Amino acid sequence: MPKFDFDLITLGAGSGGVRASRLAGSLGARVAVVEKARVGGTCVMRGCIPKKLLVYGAHFAEDFEDARGYGWTLGPTTFDWSSLISAKNHELERLEGIYRRILRDSKVELVEGKGVLADAHTIEVDGRALTAERILVATGSKPTLPKIPGIEYAITSNEALDLMQMPRRVVIVGGGYIAVEFAGIFAALGVEVTIVIRAANLLRGFDEDICQSLAKAMEAKGITICRETVVRSIEKAPGGYSLVLSGREVMETDLVMYATGRHPNTSGLGLEDAGVKLNDRKAVAVDEWSRSSVPGIFAIGDCTDRMNLTPVAIAEAHAFVETEFKAHPVRMSYENVPSAVFSQPPIGTVGLNEAEARARGDVDVYISRFKPLKHTLTGRDEGTMMKLVVDRASDRVLGCHMVGPDAPEIIQGLAVALKCGATKGQFDATVGIHPTAAEEFVTMRTKRPETDA
Ligand code: FAD
Ligand code: NDP
Repeated sequence: MPKFDFDLITLGAGSGGVRASRLAGSLGARVAVVEKARVGGTCVMRGCIPKKLLVYGAHFAEDFEDARGYGWTLGPTTFDWSSLISAKNHELERLEGIYRRILRDSKVELVEGKGVLADAHTIEVDGRALTAERILVATGSKPTLPKIPGIEYAITSNEALDLMQMPRRVVIVGGGYIAVEFAGIFAALGVEVTIVIRAANLLRGFDEDICQSLAKAMEAKGITICRETVVRSIEKAPGGYSLVLSGREVMETDLVMYATGRHPNTSGLGLEDAGVKLNDRKAVAVDEWSRSSVPGIFAIGDCTDRMNLTPVAIAEAHAFVETEFKAHPVRMSYENVPSAVFSQPPIGTVGLNEAEARARGDVDVYISRFKPLKHTLTGRDEGTMMKLVVDRASDRVLGCHMVGPDAPEIIQGLAVALKCGATKGQFDATVGIHPTAAEEFVTMRTKRPETDA
């Protein structure tokens, strides 16, 4: 008679939880996964996937205009927001079905309901106690909203993905990933968009040239960026909302969206009562093996607040299963993790930004700005910017950054090169594919003068 009901119980069927559960299940472990909402989690239901579908949907507006430069005459085009939302929802239902089937095929028991830790080996779900040798916390994160008067009128990305109708005007507070991605979606669809940021520029932590190029491109598309501005309060006004800003000026809008970061979903789970230590950001404190302070309890993904991206949660799941269920210790590497921002135009980036690289030693910087070939005929005034940051002593490429069409697709390939420790000499020795934008990454030869740094 086994000591526990399961070998593994996972709390949360999101990106990390589903992957860990199904990998462990397919190895023959007895696994249950507890999910209180929809199987698939943030990425599939409220994040990456629905967002990217809306980005595609919105981009057609420019595609129709651009087609004219290539000889197309278009009839009248119309856009119906509710059709896009319902097509998107239909796809999410299909994906949820696939995730459920994957769990079934891996012999993972799906327990629907909110799970709470009762002790180091017990999870309670609606009065049912389930025991396991190991517990994996993969409960993700949720939006953080500042406590200002009227904040209850603001929506977050959760609601933005399911709006019943498109607003005429929207104010988006925050300048991170979510803010710029949703600003791009709304603006492309003709909504008047204002971004309010407390900093001097968008996307803190990204390369400075990237931030500036994106801000310029967004402003050229008609998005207003209110810099170094804080919203003091939000009031209901006839037909919309009034925002009182830091300088006491008032801004009127139809919709207020907050994209001011996310915090680990760790409260009300019984973690601290079971002795699981949280860090100062209330994330589960884990070591390099995703072990919490309590033996047998592990945590991965956004609830650990290490690098809050889907592929990272998935890679942490793989490392956990390899280590715990295959006796093959694998540590997750956080070096050279590429990421993309699906703004319009999009960003792709991998490695160190220029400031981070300079803090480590002397660097050479290569920058290329050009108009994509496609836009020679469309007449669209939208540039591409590419940047390489190279360690002067070793010639190693430390960072690749790009703003422009297909940047996420291009940078994914370059991430392999950086992971292999490629040098600028090896980039230069690589033959380009012509005519592409990506070939620029292997043909940049002129260092940016130090005086421009
Ligand atoms: P989640 O996927 O959030 O899953 C956690 C699950 O746990 C949820 O299903 C939740 O319901 C469940 N849960 C929580 N508490 C309990 C409980 N007590 N009992 C049972 N179940 C519980 N990342 C990218 O890499 N690329 C992108 O383009 C991208 N776009 C994004 C866009 C948006 C709008 C957002 C919000 C995020 C985006 N992300 C993106 C981030 C990505 O979604 C997360 O990093 C990823 O989903 C984290 O996976 P996870 O397994 O840690 O948690
Ligand atoms: P981010 O951390 O990316 O950005 C938060 C923004 O909100 C920053 O501009 C920050 O400003 C601002 N902010 C924070 N607190 C306040 C406040 N009290 N008042 C005003 N502004 C404030 O968070 P997001 O919500 O955009 O996204 C959460 C995470 O989800 C991302 O960090 C990323 O890990 C993940 N994600 C990934 C995506 C992708 O891979 N494409 C897409 C979407 C999300 P400041 O810079 O001044 O601190």
